[in-house]
Amino acid sequence: MQILDGKKTAESIRNELALEVQKRKESGKKTPHLAAVLVGEDGGSLTYVTSKVKTCEKIGFESSLIRYDSSVSEKTLLDKVNELNNDDNIDGFIVQLPLPDHINESLIKSSIHPSKDVDGFHPENIGNMVLNVPGFLPATPAGILELLKRNGVETEGKKCVVVGRSTIVGMPLSILLARNSNPGNCTVTLAHSRTKNLKEICLQADIIVAAIGKPEFITADMVKEGTVVVDVGTTRVPNPERERGWSLKGDVHFEEVSKKCSFITPVPGGVGPMTIASLMLNTLKALELKGQ
Ligand code: NAP
Repeated sequence: MQILDGKKTAESIRNELALEVQKRKESGKKTPHLAAVLVGEDGGSLTYVTSKVKTCEKIGFESSLIRYDSSVSEKTLLDKVNELNNDDNIDGFIVQLPLPDHINESLIKSSIHPSKDVDGFHPENIGNMVLNVPGFLPATPAGILELLKRNGVETEGKKCVVVGRSTIVGMPLSILLARNSNPGNCTVTLAHSRTKNLKEICLQADIIVAAIGKPEFITADMVKEGTVVVDVGTTRVPNPERERGWSLKGDVHFEEVSKKCSFITPVPGGVGPMTIASLMLNTLKALELKGQ
């Protein structure tokens, strides 16, 4: 069994990006600038946004963090999105999800200009992904593809089961893995909470991706020998032994499943760091596509 080490793979992407920024600076070109909009005080969202901003600092990108109270109006948020769309200094930006209930998330996603949509959530970018034409791919699925590719995991002709059909992870990943590209060319089954006989379906899989949000849901009896297992889940579970009182658990029962599979991503240190790395790759791409 080999660990698919997202921390290490993301580090090599960061090093490549830092070198690219250095080269751009030396030749007088613009430095990539990522902005992040954070609404409210949710601990998870704050952690994600903070690590995105810190990664920018590490690799020499510029970054801006714009924060609003959870009571911010939809209009104020839309005005900010519009301002960022028109700010030439900002190459790409994200609005951290989830947003409070009084704000229409779909409206916000589709208000971000597709050329600055480095999270890849705009309908135009989703359409481009489906059509297999260039655009911004959603950060977590793109990070998973990069992790598989850089660690030599073969996908062509494999049977893949993606468990979870969210529009940010499971659904786009199922499309990407089925596309005629590398990684890709899998035969994909997309499973969800209404799927019957999930265990039997998973037992057929050469690759299982778990994006459910239920700790240790995928157990050893659901996995055949030699399967590649990608664990997207990150749930905070109480842990009195940790000073902060919780630890992160994935959707896969790591201890038992790791004994059977060929490759597995750990939680933490698997998919999470790759999500941030893809966001950075998308931001550089956004600047390059402007011809700057
Ligand atoms: P989500 O919106 O929370 O949806 C969960 C999905 O799991 C739904 O499609 C649901 O099916 C399915 N599901 C729930 N119970 C199930 C069951 N018993 N059997 C089969 N499918 C079941 O998904 P998400 O936003 O993709 O998040 C999933 C997990 O990934 C969470 O832990 C989240 O924190 C984590 N995550 C991690 C990263 C990262 O960078 N590491 C990024 C994004 C998300 P229905 O559609 O039928 O309800």
